Amino acid sequence: MTSAVRPRIVLSRCIEVDHCRWNSLRVASDVVKLLLPHVDIVPVCPEVEIGLGVPRPPIRVIKTDEGLRLYQPETARDCTVEMERFSDEFLGELGSVDGFILKSRSPSCGSKEVRVYQGLSDHTVSRKGVGFFAAAVAARYEGVAIEDEGRLTNWSLRHHFFTRIYAMARFRSQVLTAPSMQALIGYHAAHKLLIMACNERQLRMMGRIVANHDGQPLDVVVRDYEQHLALALQDAPRYTASINVLMHAMGYFDLTPAEKRFFLDALEDYRASRVPLSVPIAIVRSWIVRFGQPYLAEQAFFAPYPEELVQVTDSGKGRDT
Ligand code: SF4
Repeated sequence: MTSAVRPRIVLSRCIEVDHCRWNSLRVASDVVKLLLPHVDIVPVCPEVEIGLGVPRPPIRVIKTDEGLRLYQPETARDCTVEMERFSDEFLGELGSVDGFILKSRSPSCGSKEVRVYQGLSDHTVSRKGVGFFAAAVAARYEGVAIEDEGRLTNWSLRHHFFTRIYAMARFRSQVLTAPSMQALIGYHAAHKLLIMACNERQLRMMGRIVANHDGQPLDVVVRDYEQHLALALQDAPRYTASINVLMHAMGYFDLTPAEKRFFLDALEDYRASRVPLSVPIAIVRSWIVRFGQPYLAEQAFFAPYPEELVQVTDSGKGRDT
Protein backbone atom coordinates (compact mmCIF):
# COMPACT_ATOMS: atom_id res chain seq x y z
CA MET A 1 0.00 0.00 0.00
CA THR A 2 2.85 2.43 0.78
CA SER A 3 5.51 1.49 -1.77
CA ALA A 4 4.54 3.91 -4.58
CA VAL A 5 3.95 6.89 -2.32
CA ARG A 6 6.71 9.41 -1.60
CA PRO A 7 5.97 11.94 1.14
CA ARG A 8 7.18 15.48 0.48
CA ILE A 9 9.27 16.63 3.43
CA VAL A 10 10.95 19.96 4.20
CA LEU A 11 14.33 19.32 5.83
CA SER A 12 16.75 21.65 7.58
CA ARG A 13 19.62 21.51 5.11
CA CYS A 14 22.32 21.06 7.76
CA ILE A 15 20.89 17.62 8.61
CA GLU A 16 22.72 15.07 6.44
CA VAL A 17 22.62 17.32 3.34
CA ASP A 18 25.05 20.24 3.60
CA HIS A 19 27.84 21.70 5.77
CA CYS A 20 25.88 24.88 6.37
CA ARG A 21 25.83 25.26 10.16
CA TRP A 22 27.35 28.42 11.65
CA ASN A 23 30.59 26.44 12.25
CA SER A 24 30.53 24.80 8.76
CA LEU A 25 29.49 21.45 10.21
CA ARG A 26 26.75 19.09 9.13
CA VAL A 27 24.46 17.24 11.53
CA ALA A 28 24.39 13.43 11.36
CA SER A 29 21.02 11.71 11.71
CA ASP A 30 20.54 7.97 11.13
CA VAL A 31 16.79 8.47 10.88
CA VAL A 32 17.07 11.11 8.14
CA LYS A 33 19.65 8.96 6.33
CA LEU A 34 17.20 6.05 6.45
CA LEU A 35 14.35 8.23 5.18
CA LEU A 36 16.13 10.07 2.34
CA PRO A 37 15.76 7.35 -0.38
CA HIS A 38 12.00 7.10 0.30
CA VAL A 39 10.84 10.72 0.36
CA ASP A 40 11.02 13.86 -1.78
CA ILE A 41 13.08 16.34 0.16
CA VAL A 42 12.88 20.13 0.06
CA PRO A 43 16.11 21.17 1.82
CA VAL A 44 16.33 24.68 3.23
CA CYS A 45 18.79 26.65 5.34
CA PRO A 46 17.05 29.89 6.35
CA GLU A 47 20.22 31.48 7.76
CA VAL A 48 22.14 30.95 4.51
CA GLU A 49 19.10 32.15 2.54
CA ILE A 50 19.14 35.49 4.33
CA GLY A 51 22.82 35.92 3.47
CA LEU A 52 24.53 35.11 6.76
CA GLY A 53 27.18 32.98 5.01
CA VAL A 54 29.13 29.88 6.13
CA PRO A 55 30.89 29.97 8.54
CA ARG A 56 29.17 32.80 10.42
CA PRO A 57 29.02 34.17 13.94
CA PRO A 58 26.11 32.48 15.75
CA ILE A 59 22.75 34.17 16.13
CA ARG A 60 20.36 33.94 19.05
CA VAL A 61 16.78 34.67 20.07
CA ILE A 62 16.60 37.67 22.40
CA LYS A 63 13.73 38.99 24.47
CA THR A 64 13.39 42.77 24.22
CA ASP A 65 10.74 45.33 25.13
CA GLU A 66 9.61 45.21 21.48
CA GLY A 67 9.24 41.40 21.58
CA LEU A 68 11.50 38.59 20.44
CA ARG A 69 14.35 39.44 18.05
CA LEU A 70 16.79 37.30 16.08
CA TYR A 71 20.16 38.83 16.75
CA GLN A 72 23.84 38.26 15.88
CA PRO A 73 25.77 39.61 18.90
CA GLU A 74 29.22 39.64 17.27
CA THR A 75 28.12 41.94 14.43
CA ALA A 76 25.21 43.64 16.24
CA ARG A 77 23.04 42.60 13.28
CA ASP A 78 19.31 42.28 13.84
CA CYS A 79 18.10 39.55 11.45
CA THR A 80 14.46 39.53 12.56
CA VAL A 81 12.86 41.26 9.59
CA GLU A 82 14.99 39.39 7.01
CA MET A 83 14.12 36.04 8.58
CA GLU A 84 10.43 36.84 8.78
CA ARG A 85 10.40 38.02 5.18
CA PHE A 86 12.28 34.94 3.95
CA SER A 87 10.02 32.55 5.90
CA ASP A 88 6.94 34.23 4.49
CA GLU A 89 8.16 34.05 0.88
CA PHE A 90 9.55 30.52 1.11
CA LEU A 91 6.46 29.04 2.79
CA GLY A 92 4.15 31.04 0.52
CA GLU A 93 5.62 29.29 -2.53
CA LEU A 94 6.09 25.86 -0.97
CA GLY A 95 2.73 24.22 -1.73
CA SER A 96 1.63 20.90 -0.25
CA VAL A 97 4.01 19.12 2.10
CA ASP A 98 3.48 16.10 4.32
CA GLY A 99 5.90 17.02 7.09
CA PHE A 100 8.90 18.98 8.34
CA ILE A 101 12.12 17.72 9.94
CA LEU A 102 13.83 20.72 11.48
CA LYS A 103 17.11 21.04 13.36
CA SER A 104 16.57 20.86 17.10
CA ARG A 105 17.14 23.92 19.30
CA SER A 106 18.29 26.21 16.47
CA PRO A 107 17.26 29.89 16.85
CA SER A 108 15.94 29.62 13.29
CA CYS A 109 14.77 26.01 12.83
CA GLY A 110 14.18 24.75 16.39
CA SER A 111 10.56 23.80 17.01
CA LYS A 112 11.01 23.35 20.79
CA GLU A 113 13.36 24.18 23.65
CA VAL A 114 15.19 26.98 21.89
CA ARG A 115 17.29 29.21 24.15
CA VAL A 116 15.80 32.66 24.67
CA TYR A 117 18.22 35.25 26.07
CA GLN A 118 16.64 37.75 28.42
CA GLY A 119 18.30 40.83 26.84
CA LEU A 120 21.14 41.99 24.59
CA SER A 121 23.82 41.75 27.24
CA ASP A 122 22.04 39.39 29.60
CA HIS A 123 23.23 35.79 29.69
CA THR A 124 20.16 34.48 31.49
CA VAL A 125 18.36 32.00 29.28
CA SER A 126 15.10 30.13 29.29
CA ARG A 127 14.68 27.01 27.16
CA LYS A 128 11.11 27.71 26.18
CA GLY A 129 11.56 29.34 22.81
CA VAL A 130 10.83 28.43 19.19
CA GLY A 131 13.07 29.30 16.24
CA PHE A 132 11.86 32.08 13.95
CA PHE A 133 11.53 29.89 10.84
CA ALA A 134 9.92 27.06 12.84
CA ALA A 135 7.37 29.50 14.30
CA ALA A 136 6.41 30.60 10.78
CA VAL A 137 6.09 26.94 9.72
CA ALA A 138 3.81 26.11 12.66
CA ALA A 139 1.61 29.15 11.96
CA ARG A 140 1.17 28.40 8.26
CA TYR A 141 1.12 24.58 8.32
CA GLU A 142 -1.21 23.92 11.22
CA GLY A 143 -1.90 20.18 11.52
CA VAL A 144 1.16 19.13 9.48
CA ALA A 145 3.70 16.89 11.23
CA ILE A 146 6.74 18.84 12.49
CA GLU A 147 9.58 17.04 14.24
CA ASP A 148 13.26 17.55 14.92
CA GLU A 149 16.04 15.05 14.31
CA GLY A 150 16.64 14.65 18.05
CA ARG A 151 13.07 13.61 18.91
CA LEU A 152 12.99 11.21 15.95
CA THR A 153 15.52 8.97 17.70
CA ASN A 154 12.61 7.96 19.99
CA TRP A 155 10.75 4.97 18.54
CA SER A 156 7.21 6.08 19.43
CA LEU A 157 7.69 9.61 18.09
CA ARG A 158 9.35 8.32 14.92
CA HIS A 159 6.68 5.66 14.33
CA HIS A 160 3.93 8.24 14.63
CA PHE A 161 5.77 10.78 12.45
CA PHE A 162 6.29 8.19 9.69
CA THR A 163 2.66 7.09 10.05
CA ARG A 164 1.41 10.68 9.66
CA ILE A 165 3.56 11.64 6.69
CA TYR A 166 2.63 8.48 4.78
CA ALA A 167 -1.08 8.81 5.59
CA MET A 168 -1.06 12.40 4.31
CA ALA A 169 1.03 11.47 1.25
CA ARG A 170 -1.44 8.70 0.36
CA PHE A 171 -4.29 11.21 0.72
CA ARG A 172 -2.54 13.53 -1.75
CA SER A 173 -1.84 10.77 -4.24
CA GLN A 174 -5.09 8.76 -3.93
CA VAL A 175 -7.62 11.55 -3.39
CA LEU A 176 -6.27 15.05 -4.11
CA THR A 177 -4.63 14.33 -7.49
CA ALA A 178 -7.95 13.20 -9.06
CA PRO A 179 -10.72 13.85 -6.53
CA SER A 180 -13.82 11.64 -6.60
CA MET A 181 -16.20 10.28 -3.98
CA GLN A 182 -15.08 6.79 -4.89
CA ALA A 183 -11.42 7.66 -4.17
CA LEU A 184 -12.38 9.30 -0.86
CA ILE A 185 -14.50 6.31 0.22
CA GLY A 186 -11.63 3.95 -0.68
CA TYR A 187 -9.12 6.01 1.30
CA HIS A 188 -11.42 6.23 4.30
CA ALA A 189 -12.08 2.48 4.28
CA ALA A 190 -8.35 1.66 4.24
CA HIS A 191 -7.53 4.09 7.07
CA LYS A 192 -10.45 3.33 9.37
CA LEU A 193 -8.53 1.30 11.94
CA LEU A 194 -5.60 3.72 11.95
CA ILE A 195 -7.91 6.68 12.57
CA MET A 196 -9.86 4.65 15.14
CA ALA A 197 -6.60 4.09 17.06
CA CYS A 198 -5.64 7.78 16.91
CA ASN A 199 -8.97 9.48 17.55
CA GLU A 200 -12.36 7.74 17.64
CA ARG A 201 -14.29 10.99 17.84
CA GLN A 202 -12.70 12.25 14.62
CA LEU A 203 -13.39 8.89 12.97
CA ARG A 204 -17.12 9.32 13.63
CA MET A 205 -17.03 12.86 12.22
CA MET A 206 -15.08 11.72 9.16
CA GLY A 207 -17.58 8.90 8.59
CA ARG A 208 -20.36 11.52 8.48
CA ILE A 209 -18.34 13.68 6.07
CA VAL A 210 -17.85 10.73 3.71
CA ALA A 211 -21.56 9.77 3.96
CA ASN A 212 -22.34 13.36 2.84
CA HIS A 213 -26.03 13.30 3.72
CA ASP A 214 -26.18 17.09 3.14
CA GLY A 215 -25.15 16.67 -0.50
CA GLN A 216 -22.16 19.02 -0.25
CA PRO A 217 -20.10 19.59 -3.43
CA LEU A 218 -17.10 17.25 -3.81
CA ASP A 219 -14.45 19.94 -3.26
CA VAL A 220 -16.07 20.95 0.05
CA VAL A 221 -16.29 17.30 1.19
CA VAL A 222 -12.64 16.61 0.31
CA ARG A 223 -11.37 19.79 1.98
CA ASP A 224 -13.42 19.09 5.09
CA TYR A 225 -12.16 15.51 5.24
CA GLU A 226 -8.52 16.59 4.82
CA GLN A 227 -8.80 19.01 7.75
CA HIS A 228 -10.28 16.33 10.00
CA LEU A 229 -7.69 13.80 8.85
CA ALA A 230 -4.88 16.15 9.92
CA LEU A 231 -6.60 16.65 13.29
CA ALA A 232 -7.21 12.93 13.75
CA LEU A 233 -3.55 12.08 13.20
CA GLN A 234 -2.16 14.80 15.46
CA ASP A 235 -1.79 12.57 18.51
CA ALA A 236 -0.22 9.12 18.58
CA PRO A 237 -2.61 6.31 19.58
CA ARG A 238 -2.65 5.50 23.27
CA TYR A 239 -1.74 1.89 23.96
CA THR A 240 -5.29 1.20 25.15
CA ALA A 241 -6.64 2.42 21.79
CA SER A 242 -4.19 0.19 19.89
CA ILE A 243 -5.33 -2.76 22.02
CA ASN A 244 -8.99 -1.97 21.20
CA VAL A 245 -8.19 -1.96 17.48
CA LEU A 246 -6.34 -5.27 17.75
CA MET A 247 -9.25 -6.84 19.69
CA HIS A 248 -11.58 -5.56 16.98
CA ALA A 249 -9.32 -7.15 14.32
CA MET A 250 -9.34 -10.49 16.16
CA GLY A 251 -13.11 -10.66 15.56
CA TYR A 252 -12.53 -11.04 11.81
CA PHE A 253 -10.90 -14.47 12.17
CA ASP A 254 -12.30 -17.90 12.93
CA LEU A 255 -9.77 -18.82 15.63
CA THR A 256 -9.38 -21.81 17.91
CA PRO A 257 -9.64 -21.19 21.67
CA ALA A 258 -5.87 -21.80 21.93
CA GLU A 259 -5.12 -19.20 19.27
CA LYS A 260 -7.38 -16.68 20.99
CA ARG A 261 -5.65 -17.35 24.31
CA PHE A 262 -2.23 -16.96 22.68
CA PHE A 263 -3.24 -13.61 21.17
CA LEU A 264 -4.83 -12.27 24.36
CA ASP A 265 -1.62 -13.20 26.23
CA ALA A 266 0.40 -11.23 23.64
CA LEU A 267 -1.93 -8.23 24.14
CA GLU A 268 -1.48 -8.52 27.89
CA ASP A 269 2.32 -8.56 27.41
CA TYR A 270 2.01 -5.43 25.27
CA ARG A 271 -0.24 -3.76 27.85
CA ALA A 272 2.41 -4.48 30.51
CA SER A 273 5.24 -3.15 28.25
CA ARG A 274 6.89 -6.57 28.11
CA VAL A 275 6.73 -6.64 24.28
CA PRO A 276 6.41 -3.89 21.65
CA LEU A 277 3.28 -3.25 19.56
CA SER A 278 4.94 -5.02 16.63
CA VAL A 279 4.42 -8.40 18.38
CA PRO A 280 0.56 -8.51 18.41
CA ILE A 281 0.54 -6.76 15.02
CA ALA A 282 2.75 -9.50 13.55
CA ILE A 283 0.31 -12.14 14.83
CA VAL A 284 -2.65 -10.38 13.17
CA ARG A 285 -0.67 -9.96 9.95
CA SER A 286 0.07 -13.67 9.87
CA TRP A 287 -3.67 -14.39 10.25
CA ILE A 288 -4.48 -11.89 7.48
CA VAL A 289 -2.28 -13.99 5.17
CA ARG A 290 -3.57 -17.32 6.44
CA PHE A 291 -7.29 -16.43 6.24
CA GLY A 292 -6.92 -14.13 3.20
CA GLN A 293 -8.84 -11.37 5.01
CA PRO A 294 -9.21 -8.65 2.33
CA TYR A 295 -10.54 -5.81 4.55
CA LEU A 296 -7.73 -6.09 7.10
CA ALA A 297 -5.13 -6.65 4.35
CA GLU A 298 -5.90 -3.10 3.14
CA GLN A 299 -5.72 -1.47 6.58
CA ALA A 300 -2.95 1.12 6.93
CA PHE A 301 -2.88 0.40 10.68
CA PHE A 302 -1.01 -2.85 10.02
CA ALA A 303 1.53 -1.39 7.54
CA PRO A 304 1.48 2.42 7.86
CA TYR A 305 4.82 2.96 6.07
CA PRO A 306 7.37 0.88 4.10
CA GLU A 307 9.00 -2.06 5.87
CA GLU A 308 12.43 -0.62 5.00
CA LEU A 309 11.80 2.17 7.51
CA VAL A 310 11.32 -0.26 10.38
CA GLN A 311 14.74 -0.59 11.97
CA VAL A 312 15.68 -3.85 13.65
CA THR A 313 16.87 -1.86 16.66
CA ASP A 314 13.29 -0.65 17.18
CA SER A 315 12.12 -3.95 18.60
CA GLY A 316 11.66 -3.92 22.32
CA LYS A 317 12.04 -0.16 22.77
CA GLY A 318 9.73 1.19 25.38
CA ARG A 319 6.13 2.13 24.90
CA ASP A 320 5.26 5.63 26.02
CA THR A 321 1.74 6.11 24.74
S1 SF4 B 1 19.52 24.86 11.82
FE1 SF4 B 1 18.47 25.73 10.06
S2 SF4 B 1 19.40 27.74 9.82
FE2 SF4 B 1 20.76 26.56 11.12
S3 SF4 B 1 22.24 25.66 9.74
FE3 SF4 B 1 20.59 24.19 9.99
S4 SF4 B 1 19.24 24.61 8.31
FE4 SF4 B 1 20.55 26.37 8.50
